[in-house]
Amino acid sequence: MKQLQDANIDEFKEHFQGEVLLPGAAGYEEVRQIWNAMIDRRPALIGRCTTPEDVANAVRFSRKHNMLVSVRGGGHNIAGNSVCDDGIMIDLSLMKSIHVDPKVRRATVEPGCTLADFDAAAQTHGLATPLGINSTTGVAGLTLGGGFGWLSRKFGLSVDNLLSADVVTADGNHLHASKTENSDLFWGLRGGGGNFGIVTSFEFQLHPVGPDLLSGLIVFPFDQAKPVLTKFARFTETMPDELNVWMVTRKAPPLPFLPEDVHGKTVVVLAICYVGDPAEGEKLIEPLRGFGTAHGEHIGVQPYTAWQQTFDPLLTKGARNYWKSHNFSKISEGVIEAIIEYAAMLPSPQCEIFIGTIGGQTTRIAPDAMAYSSRDANYVMNVHGRWESAADDARGISWARQFFTKSKPFASDGAYINFLTEEETDRIAFAYGTTYKRLVELKKKYDPTNFFRMNQNIRPV
Ligand SMILES: Cc1cc2nc3c(=O)[nH]c(=O)nc-3n(C[C@H](O)[C@H](O)[C@H](O)COP(=O)(O)OP(=O)(O)OC[C@H]3O[C@@H](n4cnc5c(N)ncnc54)[C@H](O)[C@@H]3O)c2cc1C
Repeated sequence: MKQLQDANIDEFKEHFQGEVLLPGAAGYEEVRQIWNAMIDRRPALIGRCTTPEDVANAVRFSRKHNMLVSVRGGGHNIAGNSVCDDGIMIDLSLMKSIHVDPKVRRATVEPGCTLADFDAAAQTHGLATPLGINSTTGVAGLTLGGGFGWLSRKFGLSVDNLLSADVVTADGNHLHASKTENSDLFWGLRGGGGNFGIVTSFEFQLHPVGPDLLSGLIVFPFDQAKPVLTKFARFTETMPDELNVWMVTRKAPPLPFLPEDVHGKTVVVLAICYVGDPAEGEKLIEPLRGFGTAHGEHIGVQPYTAWQQTFDPLLTKGARNYWKSHNFSKISEGVIEAIIEYAAMLPSPQCEIFIGTIGGQTTRIAPDAMAYSSRDANYVMNVHGRWESAADDARGISWARQFFTKSKPFASDGAYINFLTEEETDRIAFAYGTTYKRLVELKKKYDPTNFFRMNQNIRPV
């Protein structure tokens, strides 16, 4: 790896319209620090792009000088791939324009947009596309890995709603990718992560959503976990696509609708969202209340954008995070027992085990239709280790790994690449699943030198 000399930095600046941050500069520390505080890396240079040409120039410069490159969208990648030591961080977070065409229900979105930016712009017209459940996450990284949230059962994954993308390739050229243009690249972008180039613009299909939706939480005591989880598992197998219910077990935050003596106690939470007429939704969710005797509930009709931000306070930037994830086709008794065993030993007040329910439309696409292949995943489980101090790392990591091992026999194939941690390089081929071989061929075509390797890397060999 070459070190950057002053002359090199001048050369970079000459072709770059955006801001250039070097170690020690005001703003450098803030931009290099991503969501997961466990990742602490120092790029030699941060290029804060403002145009697709900035992106292309940064790529050409890095290639010429043999510099490692990382690409930052929303900076939420758990493995920390958006920041590198000693290389060039290509920061897209200033590229935030969004254009919504309500007539054709399409949005063109730049790669620095967060889910909050996108949701706000689309909801002005009563429209939305499936994204994640935490509004500070970046649209770019989330989409390129698959992308799922409350709307996915009805409208599919984020990648299922991607219509086209503008891409800067590893040789610094601009390409448009869609079903009719560079269709192989378009296939790979939809689930292949950041392996094939840097997307400078995403075009999405939008759908009528809300703007108000029935949504909220029911919180059950942990000693009722067995019946609640068992009923959750069976209920979610047959519920309509419009309804989504996720399960999370964790220590109760001090939510105003919970009695004070419940705060800090382990609970089982059902998070509910109905994408349709709230009156119809009310009828459908009624059986959930009978899963046990709840500590409390907070369910009502609220703006979709507000629901999208409900979990933000629990998921702020700056904590230490360690995740492990499995896909499940079915929530079997073995998984339920493992969840109960490990939720009884939560190593910190912020740790949780959650099951995100997908299924519905996400499973009706052929597994080889695009790079994302886990079409039999009805549920994505994440054991979310989270704490403040490095002194808690060993205990928290060990807990998450043990639960991961215990629940593994019940998992289905593939894994969500956006939930893989830094150390899980041996799981990457398994995670991509049945499309991996074709992804390797595509990598050989579009990035034969593995220039883009700070990602869930598909090696061109
Ligand atoms: C709090 C939290 C909640 C989450 N909730 C969900 C959820 O509900 N659903 C879900 O599906 N996922 C969820 N995720 C996972 C999320 O999808 C990944 O963390 C994703 O990587 C975030 O994208 P980003 O742009 O913020 O990340 P970044 O760290 O900026 O980027 C991640 C990687 O994506 C690639 N990349 C980013 N932008 C580009 C681009 N323009 N072109 C090419 N490659 C690019 C790069 O390889 C980069 O290293 C969540 C993550 C967090 C931290």
